[in-house]
Amino acid sequence: MTPPPRPTERSEALFARAQAVTPGGVNSPVRAFNAVGGTPRFIRSGRGAWLTDVDGNEYVDLVCSWGALLLGHAHPEVQEAIAAAVARGTSYGTPTEPEVELAEEIVGRTPIERVRFVSSGTEATMSAIRLARGFTGRDVVVKFAGCYHGHVDSLLAAAGSGVATFAIPGTPGVPASSTELTIVLPYNDRAAVDEVFAAHGDRIACVITEAAPGNMGVVPPLPGFNAHLAETCAAHGALFISDEVMTGFRAGKLGQWGLDGAVEGWRPDLMTFGKVMGGGLPAAAFGGRADVMGHLAPEGPVYQAGTLSGNPVATTAGLATLRLATDEVYERISLVAETLGTAAGKALADAGVPHVVQATGTMFSVFFTGETVTDFAAASTQDTAAYAAFFHAMLDRGVHLPPSAYEAWFVSSAHDDAAVEAVLEALPYAAHAAAEVGR
Ligand SMILES: *Cc1c(COP(=O)(O)O)cnc(C)c1O
Repeated sequence: MTPPPRPTERSEALFARAQAVTPGGVNSPVRAFNAVGGTPRFIRSGRGAWLTDVDGNEYVDLVCSWGALLLGHAHPEVQEAIAAAVARGTSYGTPTEPEVELAEEIVGRTPIERVRFVSSGTEATMSAIRLARGFTGRDVVVKFAGCYHGHVDSLLAAAGSGVATFAIPGTPGVPASSTELTIVLPYNDRAAVDEVFAAHGDRIACVITEAAPGNMGVVPPLPGFNAHLAETCAAHGALFISDEVMTGFRAGKLGQWGLDGAVEGWRPDLMTFGKVMGGGLPAAAFGGRADVMGHLAPEGPVYQAGTLSGNPVATTAGLATLRLATDEVYERISLVAETLGTAAGKALADAGVPHVVQATGTMFSVFFTGETVTDFAAASTQDTAAYAAFFHAMLDRGVHLPPSAYEAWFVSSAHDDAAVEAVLEALPYAAHAAAEVGR
């Protein structure tokens, strides 16, 4: 059954205006519909699990601002905290109390000892890399194919997220001298890590990895993989940087580290955070061992700064969000993720569409390929045309998925039974649509 077409005139008109003044009409490539076709929906408002676009259509949101909105849209208590902070002024360029409180909250919930706030995940990983180089006096950075760490020059080699969606091998504009110092390895490949350390161990400043990749779809680390990275770095005097910008306070209360490091008894030298910790406003952070962080200005020589870093409104939103992120919140998110992941898998199986559902903690994604995905090469075997058909069938039935087969699906604690039901109803139709174009 085909639902009546939804009006899109206003989104189309805004998109035309946007394209005239902004490259591609979007301020971040992942928002474009290039990989699935059609016009991105311009959203007017969000409440709980729901988005309303400028044409008045409603959607269950399975993007949640790319994972940032752990509690859903316009959570009343977060809104109240933000409104109160705004009423006191929006930025002072001085230290403030909310920064200290958020720093204490994060240090209390993670294995890091000191933290520095920035405004985006990109800044967090960029600063962590600089600090690792400054601390070790070495230049080489090891990363993994399909892991996305923001649009940092040296980290844009074989990256995930939009770089994967648009099949961009690297990007023009990054000098060879930046990526020459970046070694890219296949994810989950211990032997490759051992080989590279055997060959270049004394030149490697750090290994950076997504704690559990979510930017090529969700690819959990094989058991012991992160522990192996931590041990190998320690043995060679390199630093282990665990990028939890996506997984932090999202995969679970303690992030991905809560699922492996906390259980196995190791901790990263540096970690990066963003998304959830900003509560929907621009806030991110990097932190780690006190001796390493002590190399940062003004305590040490490695320079790093930001006019709006630790902004009082953003840190207030983050603090309110983390304080509300109780065990019950993660239980709800976990239940919803499990329900939707299982239902998506069943719908695709019933329709005969090759797929794999993968998860780590409360984070999950659906790969449109028949084989288990442990690295980027496997993620790239997806049938993206089938995903595009699936995506549009869901959108037509009021469910907004990420417009790319290479992204995680995100839910929030505001995804109540009505929202879940709406997704469950749409899935069989979308699976059927995918089957019709599937190869
Ligand atoms: C989103 C993301 C980033 C970049 O964060 P921005 O705030 O978009 O700059 C970095 N690392 C990971 C793992 C991410 O998911």
